[in-house]
Parts: sequence; structure tokens; C-alpha cells
Amino acid sequence: MRDKKISALEINGKKISCNIKRKGVRHVYLKVKPGFQLEVVLPRNRNIHVDRILKLKRPWIEKKINEISKVKKIFDNDTVLYKGEPVKVKVCTVKKSGKGVRLYKNVILVYEDSKRKKEEVLRNFITRQTLGYVQKKAKRFAKELQLSCNTISTKEIKKWGYCNRNGKIFFNWRLICLPERLADYVVFHEVLHLKHFNHSKQFKKDMTKYFIDSKEVEIMLKNYLSY
Ligand SMILES: [Zn+2]
Repeated sequence: MRDKKISALEINGKKISCNIKRKGVRHVYLKVKPGFQLEVVLPRNRNIHVDRILKLKRPWIEKKINEISKVKKIFDNDTVLYKGEPVKVKVCTVKKSGKGVRLYKNVILVYEDSKRKKEEVLRNFITRQTLGYVQKKAKRFAKELQLSCNTISTKEIKKWGYCNRNGKIFFNWRLICLPERLADYVVFHEVLHLKHFNHSKQFKKDMTKYFIDSKEVEIMLKNYLSY
């Protein structure tokens, strides 16, 4: 029962919990799951020491953990992602006139007076950019799909977007922060729900008709925190 002794492994300062299972398999299987969990499946009938496997497979485990750690944050201190690119946010204090936000080259300039918080000004700016973008794209995609979409808005949600039974589409107000290809994918996905209100085979088929790399995009989307 030496297996059960190992409950955690440390990689790059992160505690990785190990779940060790013995099954009727022929080979050793390792899988890194979300939440930094490592699953190790060992053949039931062979005397394999977990310590040895973990030592041997350490480079592979490290690689996988690093991949998961690459999750990108939308807002990170003084940087915000804009269409997938990190953009610096600078705050300039001004008197009443000239307030607002400008995107100039790779800098978002926030002009504010003392009353409003920088976060609020920035959020309003990002929301407006997202709304303009999704309205334009949704209209175009709906036309291509010969559908009509009426109500599109932005919201504080954890998902990137959703469509309700009444055909109203909502997008995460941070959508403009994603690389365009990913943002377009999200918009198209929701617009397509006006045709199929599910993730049926037909839905997926239509999805891959326009996005051949659907699966890849889905994986890339998981690298961005939506909140
Ligand atoms: Zn969906």
C-alpha cells in the first residue's frame, strides 16, 4: 500500500495532488486534470512503484502543468488584453472637460477626474467596444446564415456568451479582449443557436462549416479567463 503515501507533488511551486489508481491495464497512464490534479493509472498485476514513475515522467508532468498555467488574465495590473494583445493602461487626471478613454497605439489612456474610478471608466470603455463589435459581427453572421437576430447585449457573466429561448443573445462584456478569431467564434456560436437551440450533430456540423478549426479554437478559448 505504498501507493497511497504519495498525495502531492510539487512542480514550479504548485502543489499537484496525485490520484493513484490500479486497474486492469497493461501500461502506466498519466493524465493531468484541471485544478492541478494528476491521475496515475497503474497495471493491477505488476509491481510498479509510483515514486519511480513520477521521477521518470517528471519532465512530461512539468510540461503539462506549464501548459495549464498559461491561463491568460484579461486584466492584469496595468495591462489589459485587447483583441488578444496586451495593452498598457495609463491614467491621466484631468479636470471636467476631456474625460474619457482613448486607445492610442498600444496604450489605453484613461482621462478621469477624481470622482470616477479608473476601473469603472475602463470597464465602460471595454463594454462599449465589445458591444459595437458583437453587434456588427452578429448582424453579418446572421445574414450569412439567413437568420434574423434582434436583441444583442453585454452582461457580467462567467461564460463568453449565451442565447436564451427567446432568441436574445448576451455576451460577456470582456469579449473584445479575446483574439478576433476566438471572439468571432463565440459570436458565431451564439448566432447559430438561433437556428439550433442545442449542441446537436447538426449544430456542430454547421459550426465546422464556418470554423474548420473548431476544436482548436475551443481549446484556445480555455486559455482565457472570462472574469
Ligand atoms: Zn452553445
